[in-house]
Amino acid sequence: MTNNKQLITGTTKLLGVIGYPVKHSLSPVMHNAVLAQLGLDYVYLPFPIEPQNLSIAIQGFGAINVEGFSVTIPHKQAILPLLSEIEPIAQAVGAVNTVSRKDNKWVGTNTDVEGFLAPLQATYNQDWSQKVVVILGNGGAARAVVAGCTQLGFAEIHVVGRNIQNLQQFRSSWDNSPLAVDIHIHTWDSLPKLIAQANLLVNTTPIGMHPNIGESPLSLEDMAKLPPTAIAYDLIYIPKPTKFLQQAQHVGAIAIDGLEMLVQQGAAALKIWLQQQTIPVDVMGQALRAKLGINS
Ligand code: NAP
Repeated sequence: MTNNKQLITGTTKLLGVIGYPVKHSLSPVMHNAVLAQLGLDYVYLPFPIEPQNLSIAIQGFGAINVEGFSVTIPHKQAILPLLSEIEPIAQAVGAVNTVSRKDNKWVGTNTDVEGFLAPLQATYNQDWSQKVVVILGNGGAARAVVAGCTQLGFAEIHVVGRNIQNLQQFRSSWDNSPLAVDIHIHTWDSLPKLIAQANLLVNTTPIGMHPNIGESPLSLEDMAKLPPTAIAYDLIYIPKPTKFLQQAQHVGAIAIDGLEMLVQQGAAALKIWLQQQTIPVDVMGQALRAKLGINS
């Protein structure tokens, strides 16, 4: 158990998460657990901010000396013009999930890429340059996955979506990116053929997320086409494991769920806000698992 008791005083510094809605966010649980463990005079709060109030809210954060904040749906792209500085990784991804205050200016970055890569590199930290990744979905999270896989130097990056216009927009959105992103786009009917080549298969769609726990983006028959030693990575963290990951384990693939990504992107944000390199990541994971009623 972690010590979650924090004493808020006149000197307590403010962190938080902006989104709309934000009431289901797990970030306050994991961040407050680790802040309490570190004995720091900080508190991390949920801030439900409707889209039309975003600009005034950010001005207000400056006025009340908020130290930094996480950004979630629907503000991850809308916040960009309100920031003084945007780190190259966030420019590349086209979305900001972490904002910090530097010299009274707001600086945006994106820690989802680091969060996505951490469990993957912990599982397999070798050369990816001969490997193929197949990414299911072309939404916001897929952007961090494409950026991460580009950083790892994958030989081929395939993105599979259900809407060809969205896919084409997704591909062209990387045209001016500082990352040399080179992706192949496909509709779902190409999936069986692609899976047979995939060393890494990533689900970035919400298919299989609670409460639709009986769903998977693909059939067991298609999952069985994965090559031996392939890794299946689901960004979803509730349930744990998803049906997608159960199928992957059934066919002998290595499974990675989204919980560690959630923890690691949060830990990367805390490193920026607290200006300290060592964050007790296990405390964050424990707090999340306790909140979600997960034993493992
Ligand atoms: P998003 O921007 O709405 O993108 C969702 C993508 O999935 C879109 O490309 C959408 O296709 C596709 N999709 C949705 N329903 C589908 C269906 N029934 N069949 C086929 N494709 C479908 O959402 P997001 O922000 O990327 O989040 C996606 C998932 O990742 C969520 O489950 C979220 O919880 C998870 N996530 C986890 C973490 C973590 O830290 N573990 C971080 C971020 C996100 P269209 O483009 O055609 O609409």
